[in-house]
Amino acid sequence: MGKLIVGNWKMNGLGTSLAEAQAVAAGLGSSSGGPGVRVGLCPPATLVERMARSLSGSPVLVGGQDCRAEASGAFTGDVSAEMLSEAGAVLVILGHSERRSGYGETDALVAAKVEAALRAGLEPIICVGETLAEREAGRAVAVVSAQVRGSLPQALAGRAFSVAYEPVWAIGTGLTPTTAQIEEIHTAVRAEMSAVLGAPGARAPILYGGSVKPGNAAEILSASEVGGALVGGASLKSVDFLGIIAGAG
Ligand code: PEP
Repeated sequence: MGKLIVGNWKMNGLGTSLAEAQAVAAGLGSSSGGPGVRVGLCPPATLVERMARSLSGSPVLVGGQDCRAEASGAFTGDVSAEMLSEAGAVLVILGHSERRSGYGETDALVAAKVEAALRAGLEPIICVGETLAEREAGRAVAVVSAQVRGSLPQALAGRAFSVAYEPVWAIGTGLTPTTAQIEEIHTAVRAEMSAVLGAPGARAPILYGGSVKPGNAAEILSASEVGGALVGGASLKSVDFLGIIAGAG
């Protein structure tokens, strides 16, 4: 199956940044990363609608970076899955470590958000990952397995989704795990996905995220059980993001 390469712009991007998204779409023809590669960009919520419009007709999928579990209500500042969908999103990142640590998001809340995303017809990308302290304590597999168990609702069976393994210590730091470390965790994530969901859990892609760059993408993406990448900083520049996509071939 083709890899899924998704860019997470985080809280970066104004209207002028849409040119970078258009450059990604334009570059896909020449550096498509091989057959079946799916490419997505998740801008801040303010840009979802404009990006979706400016990329319509291109293969680039647009996504949100978070959503509220409820469809509507008195939740000042929040955005629902239905709102993202109406704006043109087809993907949504959920349970990113910056949400888990900065906003106290628990596995149960992430699971509720995943259900909301599915209700709205969005394809969720569910993030998990251990901190450096947890890795150094030898708990990486246990922590990540528990996050998968708690964050994946049964409603995912038969639906399109992916899990992104993002070690917290590798996000935005330039540090990356070894291929063996990535494969160890991805194997554990796969086992847990299958235990939770049965056969559908054996098929959905597991993305790697954390300091993926053009220079390390091909090696990371060829590791076993790596079905794609979730890319932060390097997705802000079309040249870098296209370089990563080329590594998915
Ligand atoms: C992320 O935050 O999802 C991420 C992978 O960031 P970066 O690529 O900048 O490490």
